[in-house]
Parts: sequence; structure tokens; C-alpha cells
Amino acid sequence: MHLTDSHCHLADKRLYSDLDEIIGRARLAGVRTIISVGAIGSIESDRLTVEIAEHTPGVCAAVGVHPHHATDCTSKRLEELRELARSPKVVAIGESGLDFHYMYSPAEVQEASLRRHLELAAELDKPIVIHCRQAEKRLAAIIAEMTLPRRGGVVHCFTGDTVAAETFLKLGFYLSFSGILTFRNAQQVRDAAAHVPLDRLMIETDAPYLAPEPYRGRRNEPAYVIRTLAVLAEIHQTQPELLAEKIRNNARRLFGLDTVLIGVL
Ligand SMILES: [Zn+2]
Ligand SMILES: [Zn+2]
Repeated sequence: MHLTDSHCHLADKRLYSDLDEIIGRARLAGVRTIISVGAIGSIESDRLTVEIAEHTPGVCAAVGVHPHHATDCTSKRLEELRELARSPKVVAIGESGLDFHYMYSPAEVQEASLRRHLELAAELDKPIVIHCRQAEKRLAAIIAEMTLPRRGGVVHCFTGDTVAAETFLKLGFYLSFSGILTFRNAQQVRDAAAHVPLDRLMIETDAPYLAPEPYRGRRNEPAYVIRTLAVLAEIHQTQPELLAEKIRNNARRLFGLDTVLIGVL
């Protein structure tokens, strides 16, 4: 089986401090492709993410500024991201987006940062990775106004309802589901997942956050993506192996994984 963890944060110190073992366990679990996202914290986390990707076959990188840190999305920072994105291992821009749940940056600053990320993705001809928490309507309005970059995008860790899922699908997004799908109280997310066609689905860990059941509350890692796959296969009444193959192809298509020599874990 070829599993794809479409979103995690390997540069986070909770994972990086243990990286060889985490990569080893991912490989044993069947994870062959990982998209590691910088974006959280300073530019150093993007730098380290690219470095890890360049040294690890099967690991690719996304670079950007997380909406929590949207106030850091300056022209200087964008220039640094542009520079990092020259690495063939950088396959996406992000994560950017809107988080009106935590609201760590003011809404208008998050929106300005999102617009600059959409422009950057279009300029560099890369797909965009979107983070959206309790801001589905506003996000959809901005995307509808600006349109997705030519290469498309993914809404990661989708936690909206069926209506939001349909809106994002219409805009052209892939939807990625995290360990939340395995939580007992997440029926709304499972209902939404049932409405997503197989050729628009992805799965992720968002490690070190959001460990799936039965690891909920503990440090998450890419090997656990198999738990989310199992639940998603049940929802779509298909075999995990078949779904994993679909998801692998979706990730290939979105992130252009056939055009770069990325190898496998
Ligand atoms: Zn996120
Ligand atoms: Zn993330």
C-alpha cells in the first residue's frame, strides 16, 4: 500500500527531535509520500522544512505563513519564500487561509495575507494549501473573487459541513481530512466526507497536532494516517487499498509529484 500524508509539520521540534524514528515508523506503516508544511512560526521553520525535504526521498515541502502569524506576511517574508520555493522539492505554497476560531491575527490581516499567498502561488505556478477554521463563507468569497491559482489547491483538515464542502468542491478544491474524522463527536465532518468524490479526497495527519483515535491527545505522527484512511474507506464503503491508491493519484495530480524526482520513503 502507498499511503500519502498530505499535510504535517516535520520541522516542529516535537517531530524533528525524533525524525529518523518517525520516518522509520511511517515507512513501516506504508507511508511513501509526505507533504511537510513549514508556515508555523518564523521563516526558519520553512527553511528547515525545505532542508528535510531535500534530504529525504518521498518528502516534499510547502512554504508560507500560517494565518495565526499573518502579521508576519511582509514583503521581505514573501521574498524569502520565493527564494525557498526555487527548490524542486517545494511543491506548494501555504498553509495560508483564515482562522476565525482562534483569531490570533486580526481578520483583515489574515485576508491580506491570504490574497498575497494566492498571488504568490499563481506567480510561481504552484498549488495552494489552505487552512480554514470557522471562516468557510469568507474564504469562499475571497477565492471566488480572486479565483484559484491555475494549479489548484487543497483545503486541509476540513472541518466544515456538507454545504461548505460542496462550495469548496465547486471552486475546484481538493478536501483533505485529518484525524478529526475518527473522533466520536465529528459526525458532521464524516457526513461532509461522504459527499466528496473519490477523485477530490486527501488524508493527512497535521502532525504533531490532532492525533486520530486511539491516540487522541498524544503527539501525532505520519504513521497514524492509516487510521484516518480506515475511517474514510468505511464512509465511502471501499477497500482501504483502493482508496489509498485514489488518494495517491490525487496528491500526484495536485502537487505535480510526477514532474519532480521526489522518490518514496
Ligand atoms: Zn492548518
Ligand atoms: Zn498544518
